[in-house]
Amino acid sequence: MEREQDDHAAIGKRLELFFNDSTVGAGLPLLTPRGTVLKRVLTRFIEDEEIKRGYLPTDTPVLARSELFKISGHWDLYRDNMFVLESETEEKLALRPMTCPFQFMIYKQRVRSYRELPLRYSETATLFRNESSGALHGLLRLRQFTLSDGHVICTEDQIESEFLAAFELVRYVFDTLGLDGYWFRFSRRGKSGKYIDDPNAWELSEAALARILDSAGIEYVEADDEAAFYGPKLDVQMRNVWGKEDTIFTLQLDFALARRFEMTYVSEDGSLVHPFVIHRSSIGCYERTIAMLLEQYKGKLPFWIAPEQVRVASVGDSSAEYANAVAEELRQRGIRAEADVRSETVGRKIREARLMYIPVLAIVGDAERSAGTVAIRTADGDQIADVPRNAFLEACSMLEGSRSKRTNADFFRPATARV
Ligand SMILES: [Zn+2]
Repeated sequence: MEREQDDHAAIGKRLELFFNDSTVGAGLPLLTPRGTVLKRVLTRFIEDEEIKRGYLPTDTPVLARSELFKISGHWDLYRDNMFVLESETEEKLALRPMTCPFQFMIYKQRVRSYRELPLRYSETATLFRNESSGALHGLLRLRQFTLSDGHVICTEDQIESEFLAAFELVRYVFDTLGLDGYWFRFSRRGKSGKYIDDPNAWELSEAALARILDSAGIEYVEADDEAAFYGPKLDVQMRNVWGKEDTIFTLQLDFALARRFEMTYVSEDGSLVHPFVIHRSSIGCYERTIAMLLEQYKGKLPFWIAPEQVRVASVGDSSAEYANAVAEELRQRGIRAEADVRSETVGRKIREARLMYIPVLAIVGDAERSAGTVAIRTADGDQIADVPRNAFLEACSMLEGSRSKRTNADFFRPATARV
């Protein structure tokens, strides 16, 4: 069935990116070297972008004493979703389902002044949630995942501008990845008992979020009983290939946890004031974002994201050395390139590269070796012969830098022939 072929799990298997093994367990996918490279491309992209936008990176433990989660409210309100562990003392430990309590402890490490705010913490965080086995699916719903998590700690006056800055980052990520078909959802508290009992904080935070969204002209649908247990959220929603809706990124306003953690700062008049917290992700959960990318591009990832960007295939043994040299030059430029110098037919090498959606295949035989050129085939079916070696290297770097959605073959054509 066609849709099954388009499911990210099938694509991920075909492209040798990840797989599941029942001995390891459900909801715990293993990323292969190719899948790991793909995730690393996204990690480096977003970590660098966050640094540019004033975020401070943190690196905090994946487990903690129950004491920490009692303060945050996770122990009372979220424990069913957590993996709880025994320790040598009486007290239990738990694997973290969120990063917030840890970054709050970094904030609390010393006295803070209003002059330091806003403080924007980010972390590429491994998180654990005890999802029911029926809910697990490919890379979309997992028991262990990696979130581009972060918390902006700010004054009341900074809430709006910081929220909109976090929102702008999400938009930038969507545009750069080339993802579309998403919409925004305002997730409010519901009547179930899974929320922090602080009616005043809820009223203020829901009103503040509505005001920010309305004044910025952001269109959204509303959903009751979908908020985080500590505050309302703006969720970015997408559908997978089966039509099922999922939250990809999320921005949350929190008027409650800073009080519970006794976080304060010294205000301009010298008094101690509680800050406000914006919980946010930028590229979301890496695994889920990879799933959406694979489905949206049907596996044919843009050049800058593809785990193997260029494959250099030799025609016959006499051009193997040349193929290796070209691939090595590409790697020196930071391009992810492999040489295929097996003694297979060139037809087979072309077919295999096409099945793996390698964006650029460079074919080199005796003619190319003596002329110092390469012949190119892109994953989109473009073919260009006699591209001088240096022009080819240059074009690959330009393609990488352009972050173009499609492998633009014009980069490989001589300047005079470019459209
Ligand atoms: Zn958080």
